[in-house]
Amino acid sequence: MSKCKTDVAVIGAGPAGSTTARVIAEHGFDVILMEKDNYPGETNACAGGIPKSIIKDAGLNSGVIEKDISGEKHFFPWGLKTTVLDHVTVYRHAFDRALADKAVEKGAKMVTNTQIKDIFVKSEGIRMASEGNADTIESKLVVFADGPNTMACKKFGVGFKPEADKIIVSVVCEVKWENNPLEHYEFYYGYDLSPWGYGWIFPKRDTVNVGIGCLYSELRSNVIESLNYMLKKYPLTSEKLKGRKITWFSSALIPIAPARKIFDARMLVAGDAAGMVDPVSGGGISHAINGGKLAGEVCIKALEENDFSSSFLSQYQRLWHKTADYSSIYSKYLLSCVSLYLLKADRNAYPKLAAITQGGVKKVFNTLRFIYLKR
Ligand SMILES: Cc1cc2nc3c(=O)[nH]c(=O)nc-3n(C[C@H](O)[C@H](O)[C@H](O)COP(=O)(O)OP(=O)(O)OC[C@H]3O[C@@H](n4cnc5c(N)ncnc54)[C@H](O)[C@@H]3O)c2cc1C
Repeated sequence: MSKCKTDVAVIGAGPAGSTTARVIAEHGFDVILMEKDNYPGETNACAGGIPKSIIKDAGLNSGVIEKDISGEKHFFPWGLKTTVLDHVTVYRHAFDRALADKAVEKGAKMVTNTQIKDIFVKSEGIRMASEGNADTIESKLVVFADGPNTMACKKFGVGFKPEADKIIVSVVCEVKWENNPLEHYEFYYGYDLSPWGYGWIFPKRDTVNVGIGCLYSELRSNVIESLNYMLKKYPLTSEKLKGRKITWFSSALIPIAPARKIFDARMLVAGDAAGMVDPVSGGGISHAINGGKLAGEVCIKALEENDFSSSFLSQYQRLWHKTADYSSIYSKYLLSCVSLYLLKADRNAYPKLAAITQGGVKKVFNTLRFIYLKR
């Protein structure tokens, strides 16, 4: 394919992009989903933990489920706390592929092996240059769902802007452990492990995903060394992980601040590219799906009204700000900024923040109110 014309071009076939494309295709509009990798999820670094309801809501086959997860174990410096959850783990290469297949099933066109290199916004539409299976793409609208290093920010100044105190650096590996008995997500906190973040073990059927993340501005040592420490020496984890084979290793960034602006003329930004991530846990799959769905719905309205102006598309940000996803993300973001500033000298600041945010949005707001009144 050398030239392609469509109503909407979606950049990135992750959970946000595939959901946007599916919603638009369901309404009968032309949409093209462009992915730089050989297939969706091929290079995604992720622990793969999601609410079980996502599988049903997205119409996916339960075959993508690796393991049912019944709760979380938080190994706080002051003791263990266990909570109950109805979650599952998935491999992202299977999950992302299934989500993209759903979009294609509804009529979206998917082009893999195609990296968008440049974008031009003109009065008559969008023009994109790519490297791969499509050379030029022309569309009425573009949705950036291309992850934390989004072109939306680099080229147009909208979407998530990576900054040292707004980005988690993470390293992650898959460790072979056939028929492992683990049924909980495990979170490990401690200043030596990560000064502002945590280590985790997320079990799948025959592997466990082990990783560590730390706010970039708070990094005190090499995260790869911290992961090695977790695998080989950390008393709470090394006993079960030592000597097991590592089958896969990767590193990635997690955006932990909501973007200030997620629209402009002829463009919307969704998922990690818009900072739609829980700023404390770093979980973003369900937010990306919900943000992607909203982006798709706003694209449909714009196509029906034939209005692609910035003022028309601003409704996307207004609607996003009214969602439960956004109020959870924003309140946790405010609390983490306050904690980072006020508790700088406290080596247990991050686990305290994690413990407070487990109480839900109401507890977060009450804590913020308490801090404000105590000033
Ligand atoms: C180590 C780690 C562990 C995580 N664990 C969890 C977890 O357990 N649960 C959870 O909910 N969240 C987790 N997250 C967060 C989660 O991975 C993201 O929030 C989620 O993937 C966001 O989806 P997205 O569609 O916005 O972006 P992505 O999943 O990043 O998808 C973006 C897609 O765009 C493609 N792309 C990028 N640039 C271009 C381009 N120029 N042209 C074409 N294609 C392009 C990429 O190849 C990719 O497929 C984790 C993140 C990390 C880093």
